[in-house]
Amino acid sequence: ASGYTLLRDPRHNKGLAFTEKERDSHYLRGLLPPVLMCQELQEKKLMHNIRQYEVPLQKYMALMDLEERNERLFYKLLIDNVEELLPVVYTPTVGEACQKYGSIFRRPQGLYISLKEKGKILEVLKNWPERSIQVIVVTDGERILGLGDLGCQGMGIPVGKLALYTALGGVRPSACLPITIDVGTNNETLLKEEFYIGLKQRRATGKEYADFLHEFMTAVKQNYGEKVLVQFEDFANHNAFELLSKYGTTHLVFNDDIQGTAAVVLAGLVGALKILGGTLAEHTFLFLGAGEAGTGIAELIALEMSKQTKAPLEETRKKIWLVDSKGLIVNARKESLQHFKKPWAHEHEPVKDLLNAVKVIKPTVLIGTSGVGKTFTKEVIEAMASFNKKPLIMALSNPTSQSECTAEEAYTWSQGRAIFACGSPFEPVEYDGIVHVPGQSNNAYIFPGLGLGLVISGAIRVHDDMLLAASEALAGQVTQECLDKGSIYPPFSNIRKISANIAANVAAKAYELRLATRLPRPENLVKYAESCMYTPNYRTYR
Ligand code: NAP
Ligand code: MN
Repeated sequence: ASGYTLLRDPRHNKGLAFTEKERDSHYLRGLLPPVLMCQELQEKKLMHNIRQYEVPLQKYMALMDLEERNERLFYKLLIDNVEELLPVVYTPTVGEACQKYGSIFRRPQGLYISLKEKGKILEVLKNWPERSIQVIVVTDGERILGLGDLGCQGMGIPVGKLALYTALGGVRPSACLPITIDVGTNNETLLKEEFYIGLKQRRATGKEYADFLHEFMTAVKQNYGEKVLVQFEDFANHNAFELLSKYGTTHLVFNDDIQGTAAVVLAGLVGALKILGGTLAEHTFLFLGAGEAGTGIAELIALEMSKQTKAPLEETRKKIWLVDSKGLIVNARKESLQHFKKPWAHEHEPVKDLLNAVKVIKPTVLIGTSGVGKTFTKEVIEAMASFNKKPLIMALSNPTSQSECTAEEAYTWSQGRAIFACGSPFEPVEYDGIVHVPGQSNNAYIFPGLGLGLVISGAIRVHDDMLLAASEALAGQVTQECLDKGSIYPPFSNIRKISANIAANVAAKAYELRLATRLPRPENLVKYAESCMYTPNYRTYR
């Protein structure tokens, strides 16, 4: 190939890092200025440039440009500066990017499969240049973060998630495939928007939707086999639970909003118990929001409690209460509840709102998963602090604008006693001379390592015990030093090591459950996971 083409191939381009020899042998002479710049220096220069931008969306665009220009350098930047860049390629900035995707869209970064492609989805998959795909992240854009229906513009999410699969979990970029399924949108603004990139029609539902997704899932298995991981992302809950249970028995599927969130939050709880004391079963949980995240977390907590105490799930669920938009979920409402809420309808008087629910349930742990911001008011936090020495407050709604409360509010209103964790990042807060570090219940702790574990073991199904294994491995990485500062999660700077440990624990479970197809089982799974991880350092071309 010509040097000119090489410079335009993001997978192989090294820019000014091409050596003298490479410049000679690959027809690059004259196409580059004379200077040689090593990858570290390129990285330093780019970070300097990115830090100049004050608007987060500009940082996002600069990073996406880099990915399209020089893939290895993009991943090197992301890995070496993960704490700084994660909020850019992921929540909260990715949310803004999706909202403006139409106007910042330049080049497709994944596959768009719209209703126009009905009957031809297998052919569409074959249009993607890479053959051996290990992880697909797919959305239909109906519930992007806490931002609602963004239709086809949801593509930013699968793209961002897969960048993290590579950066944090070490899955090769060429093995990752972002997909957006466009069945229309019910977002009135987008339907009227001149520059909207998706189908301008209302969402397909019912049989039409189910058939289309079935064609997709069938085509995926036909084209990539049984070991490709399909991660459902940001589907609305009226489809998400059904898709997960429908394809959970025939495909390797995982829903990050339900299962990934559950695993990361459970890990945080296990960490928090080291500060709060007591076992899971000795705590009482109250959720605001009974959707994918809320019921997903609740179910995994109940499962873990049940494993620990040998009590049946029906019993352990009783320690967990949920509030939705209509108030506390209680038995009297059972008939009219969506099926995923039914297990949580306990015997109790109706309670209208969160504050009253807090007062009557007296939870030790309060978890926000409603997608609605500012719902943990001063009164709510004060109530939590009135009967808990150290109330555990998890404000998980994303992005930052939707957070139930800020870190500062949680610490101030509880007089510095709250243990606080959040979905979107918050800076440490000084209260009364003590610095409190909020933990971030970021799904990015879990899914890259979980995915890697499934891939390296050749797993063909996801089992709940693998989620517990992932969660346990994450909890095992929290140090006393973190806990002393109030943070119930380990620092993100260790994420590659954390991911390798999660992958190993998940793979071990896959072998134990006989769901792994990569045989024989490697002896040391942590070492094996590490050896499988993609590293972004430049290769030498001969
Ligand atoms: P979802 O399935 O749509 O569920 C939302 C739930 O919140 C529903 O039960 C809804 O009630 C309830 N709700 C909405 N408005 C409410 C209000 N004003 N008062 C009380 N309840 C209200 O959404 P999801 O997937 O669970 O996601 C929810 C939020 O969690 C999003 O902001 C998302 O970004 C965040 N999240 C965070 C993490 C993380 O931090 N790691 C992970 C996943 C999701 P009805 O059922 O009555 O409509
Ligand atoms: Mn999500």
